[in-house]
Amino acid sequence: MLTRSMVKIAGSVLLASVLSFVQPDAMAANVSSGAVNGVSWHAQDFDAVVDEARAAMMRDPVAALELVSEAEQALAAQGQYTSVQQATISWLRAEALTRLGRPAEALPAAQGALNLLSDTDTRDKLYGDVLVALGRGYKQTSEYGLALENYQSAYEIFRDIGDTRSEAIVLQSIASIYKDAGQYDRSVEYYLTAMERHPGDVQLELAATNNLGNVYRELGEFDGARSQFERAREIAAEMQSPILEARILNNIASLYVGFGNFTEASAAIEQAFAVLPDESRIEWTRFLFGVQAQIAYGRGDYAEAARLTSATFDGLSLRETSQHFAEFHESAAQAYEAVGEWRLATEHLRAYYRLDTQAREVMSSANLTLLGAEFHFAEQELEIARLRSAGLESELELADARFRQRLILASALLTVMFGLSIALMWRQRAARERQVLLERMLFEDGETGLPSRSALQRQIDTLGPLEPGMTVAVALGIDRYDQLEAVLGFSRAAELQRLVVDRIANHEGIDGVALLSPGVVGFMLDGATLEEARYTASRISALFRRPVELADVEIDIDLTAGLDAGDDPASLIKRAVIAIQQARDIHQTVAVFDVEAFGDASLDLSLIGRMTDAMRTGKMTLHYQPKLNLRTGEFDTVEALSRWNDDEHGFVPPDTFIRLAEETGRIRDLTEWGLRQAIADQARMSAAGFDVTISFNISGALVSDPVFAEFALQQVKSARGKFCFEITETAAMQDPQRAMATLRRWMDSGVRIAIDDYGSGLSSLSYLKMLPCHELKLDRAFVQHIATNERDRMLVKSTADLAHSLGLEMTAEGVEDDEGLALLKLFGCDSAQGFGLSRPLPLAALTEFLRNAAQDIKVEPAPLRSVQDRSKRSS
Ligand code: C2E
Ligand code: CA
Ligand code: CA
Repeated sequence: MLTRSMVKIAGSVLLASVLSFVQPDAMAANVSSGAVNGVSWHAQDFDAVVDEARAAMMRDPVAALELVSEAEQALAAQGQYTSVQQATISWLRAEALTRLGRPAEALPAAQGALNLLSDTDTRDKLYGDVLVALGRGYKQTSEYGLALENYQSAYEIFRDIGDTRSEAIVLQSIASIYKDAGQYDRSVEYYLTAMERHPGDVQLELAATNNLGNVYRELGEFDGARSQFERAREIAAEMQSPILEARILNNIASLYVGFGNFTEASAAIEQAFAVLPDESRIEWTRFLFGVQAQIAYGRGDYAEAARLTSATFDGLSLRETSQHFAEFHESAAQAYEAVGEWRLATEHLRAYYRLDTQAREVMSSANLTLLGAEFHFAEQELEIARLRSAGLESELELADARFRQRLILASALLTVMFGLSIALMWRQRAARERQVLLERMLFEDGETGLPSRSALQRQIDTLGPLEPGMTVAVALGIDRYDQLEAVLGFSRAAELQRLVVDRIANHEGIDGVALLSPGVVGFMLDGATLEEARYTASRISALFRRPVELADVEIDIDLTAGLDAGDDPASLIKRAVIAIQQARDIHQTVAVFDVEAFGDASLDLSLIGRMTDAMRTGKMTLHYQPKLNLRTGEFDTVEALSRWNDDEHGFVPPDTFIRLAEETGRIRDLTEWGLRQAIADQARMSAAGFDVTISFNISGALVSDPVFAEFALQQVKSARGKFCFEITETAAMQDPQRAMATLRRWMDSGVRIAIDDYGSGLSSLSYLKMLPCHELKLDRAFVQHIATNERDRMLVKSTADLAHSLGLEMTAEGVEDDEGLALLKLFGCDSAQGFGLSRPLPLAALTEFLRNAAQDIKVEPAPLRSVQDRSKRSS
């Protein structure tokens, strides 16, 4: 079973990292901005320019960068310079570049400085500073392991030379990694320790208080956040730094927005505008506009919100925005949705989704690093588990709908807290490395680092001509892999695949295990017969009776094996992989590739031909799964599900033929057939005295198909009873304008709209708010285990609350037992559906079922238990 951990998403800590407050050295902060244009009064004097650059660093990194170039020129003019001087230049350049968010350039600069200093044996302050700069660069590229390593080395140097200020800077840097990891409590501890380590330094305090403000905000502690921001603002004012003051005011405004106080929020923004000097307005006003847009939206002035939103993103490419814009994208989507600009709303939603995914990846990578690192700065143990559960409790207590929505997102996609970072490749990689990389790419799977299919093929090719029946390719498919991947996310799914391969590879006599395609691994048994291979496959399946442990979560894995022992080396792997599906189709765990049953590619074509016939000949039918209204205790709706029994292939699972129909353009025929059939069946049920709503599945592509939209409309208008159309969240993503219009038309003519499989896809609140619908159907993956799984329970509960707060009803799918049903009722779900109530039934059995149910209701008005017993009788 899959356990979901919920983790709060760091999301976009507003402007947090834009404010790299801490200056590398305690130099005076008051520098005339006359140096900004690069024309310096100190061009001749290296030391003086270096000091200028250091001083300008925090306030104005662009100016600092220019001063660094000047210092470099001054050096060149002198003709002779030391490696320390050169290193200083490179270090300052790295500092400025990280502040400007350009780690790809900063990292080589810092590395260059380190190389220059490594010649000498001195491990002095400059050396430590360079390590810190390196750490910052790595942090920006999400290479948290390297970041921590460098911070640690720097920390040791500073401690040895007794430089408490620098120690404090490092502690703050570590605090910010904890912040990225979403471990806010720990982050607070580090910021506070940093302040204690070197008290009375305004710059350090400014950085710490501003960051603490952001962390408290993430923790939902309004008062804590406000007092930290106020203190930061005071310091910025004392330092006479209007830009910093404006940024902090923006943070304050954003804090108020988050807590619904728009009056205070707007006052803070006005102050920010007032203190901001004209020349620095250009880039910064975006952020102020962004918060203003949120205020306008919060006050219900949607047109103004949309106008300010467009000012926020003016001239920016929505595909390339940085984390700082994540929240603004989310509110942009809401604002545009409110004024009916669906296309823009969807674009912003996509951008939000991109950034959110990124943030989650970053977060899990930070966590993994922190877990692996051994830090003893404050003699603290990493009590990850405790923190996580404590964090969970407090998260749940925050009954803010938006917040809860994030939880749902997080838990759906982020099953475990730890994961691996996405491999980030940097432009400056040497050509040689690139060569190695190219080779690796061919024989190594990019995501998992496992040997690729090509690697296995190479191994087979070295065998020469094959003796039929004496070389077996074994392919093993992880069952439900797509679902696992959707829940785990790509990087953790990659880790899972590695663990599966490890376990198989440890088995005696097996080597060269490769990843053949996502969720499918394989190897070759040379000199083995099919019987031996079957035996090996069953031994391997047995290895997975024990769950796989991914970080601290146990995941049950089932494997299905496909074998091939043909004599064609080129098709050995392919056939073994096809045999996996053949095994699944006949509900076996192992199958040998069957040429008869599967004429390869022609199979799909023949299948689709047979499907068309099946609709005419009655081999294709509809079954109906009753849905229980938990408020009335009545089965008032039934979901129509297609069933196909083929003479040759037997039962073909709907997932298979629906996908095939979608891929081959036959889905409209199938759906039109289904709708006519459902309408006819509804009339029959009505004649038998049962007026039920029929819930009908409509594939995504059809929602933006105008011909189908019209057809469906005319059909349901002719129907005896009510209809509900089930669509998935992503159905309206492709062509939102048209899809939304269709949904509205359907709705206007009385069709109910339900969002199917909710939670398995995008699940964004603002998107949801855009979709015209009446009902959420929570995916059964979240419902099936509520009786035994605490986290699933919380999820179901919060989704029910979310649905209700949006004025929607919630149906839970996949209810399999009494206990689950009782819990669903407790959580306020409106309807329930699942094998525990009834399996999908053919029409005649359905009528019988409804008759029994109606009699039971007459006897017993609140029949939770009896509903159960009854359904067991009839299914
Ligand atoms: P769906 O829309 O999510 O339909 C519910 C599926 O969950 C059905 O699978 C149903 O048999 C199954 N189910 C219901 N209760 C339980 C339970 O308690 N436990 C478990 N494990 N499963 C339960 P089915 O019939 O195999 O359909 C699979 C999918 O195929 C459907 O998922 C739907 O997306 C699609 N589908 C089926 N018929 C049609 C159709 O006529 N048109 C379209 N477009 N899609 C269809
Ligand atoms: Ca459905
Ligand atoms: Ca469903």
